[in-house]
Amino acid sequence: MRKLHLFLFIVICCCLLSFSLFSAPSASAISKQSSPIPSNKWKITGTVKGTGDVSKKFTIRPSNLQSLKMGEDLKFEIHSQDKSLVYTLNIPVKKDVKEAVLYRYESSGEEAGYFRVENQSYDAKKNKILAEVNGGGNFIVVTQPKTLKDPDTLAPKTSLISPKIASTPPAIFFIPHQDDETLSMGVAITQHLDAGREVIAVLYTDGAGSIAQKILNGEASSSWWGGTHNPVTEGYGHIDNQRFSDARTHELKSALMQLGVKPENIHIRNLTSDGTLTLDEMKSLVMEYAQKYPGASFKAMSQHDSSLSHSISGQALVDLYNQKAITDVRLYVSRNDWNRVTVGSTITPNTSQAFRVKKAAFVYQAWNPMADSFAIGYHSVSPQFNSMLANIQNRQHLPTQ
Ligand SMILES: [Zn+2]
Repeated sequence: MRKLHLFLFIVICCCLLSFSLFSAPSASAISKQSSPIPSNKWKITGTVKGTGDVSKKFTIRPSNLQSLKMGEDLKFEIHSQDKSLVYTLNIPVKKDVKEAVLYRYESSGEEAGYFRVENQSYDAKKNKILAEVNGGGNFIVVTQPKTLKDPDTLAPKTSLISPKIASTPPAIFFIPHQDDETLSMGVAITQHLDAGREVIAVLYTDGAGSIAQKILNGEASSSWWGGTHNPVTEGYGHIDNQRFSDARTHELKSALMQLGVKPENIHIRNLTSDGTLTLDEMKSLVMEYAQKYPGASFKAMSQHDSSLSHSISGQALVDLYNQKAITDVRLYVSRNDWNRVTVGSTITPNTSQAFRVKKAAFVYQAWNPMADSFAIGYHSVSPQFNSMLANIQNRQHLPTQ
């Protein structure tokens, strides 16, 4: 009897052992693995989590995006075919940096450009960014120094704008893309006009790189349009970058005129296309206007916006305000960022102002290809237009916020 017990005990043990031996490899194949970031020239440390042998699934290397002119700031690529990998990154930045933000290149509805990584924090004592990102891509770090350059050194040598000076200082709106003025600044623009202020609208990118260009060329479908375009059968032909940018600018001008802005006050500066604009170039543009229009009010998108081509104009105004080169600044939060950026307050239009914003939005769904009207606004970001029209408000904040 005792022998039988011992026999059974051994049999059970063998069964358990063999089960664990056979099951062990299959269990590890589906469980999460973690691997350290290999040593690299940027001294970025951290871990990667995913399934399988994650250490062999990614590389960290120099970014080959040629369109960048971000000065001394960090630029790298995490290359991987596996989009499910999660990276926890510890990124050292140069000393004497007050603020540092990690951006990733993405092609969204409105634009192709750099967007702020959601989960990140900056440790100013250790000069490090701590970030968690899903999937790889091309990254840049944009830093803000503790001490700012004298604004005089940023001033342009010659002025390109018209010599006509308004009798009262104007309100100058800096607009990143052809639709932001209606989506995020429309209420403010109509209110300034109604208060008797001259409004100058300055578009500072060409608006190229939007997914809408692919949609119009039949390379992507549009749920708003309800299918895929065929530029041949629809008769308008291929839309190249210049034609696309011009069509967007045509929408912008029409929308601004619905808001009440005079055509001569619409300035198309197209400094450069998305992703290539530097903070110094942006500040030079603002200083050009500051010198031409003493006492003017300056408006831009919030420095907290997730799109770098938005936040760069906000940061330029904040820096110049801190240097006392300009005194009256308001920043507007993109509707995309309303949940994340909660500073400031909302402004609400009266009936006539709301009606003008609505008519400006209608411009962005005008379809008349024979006149190069392609409803680009709605092909790009119809949900943003819908949410704005359902609740016509802007969110604004001060440069100190
Ligand atoms: Zn925009």
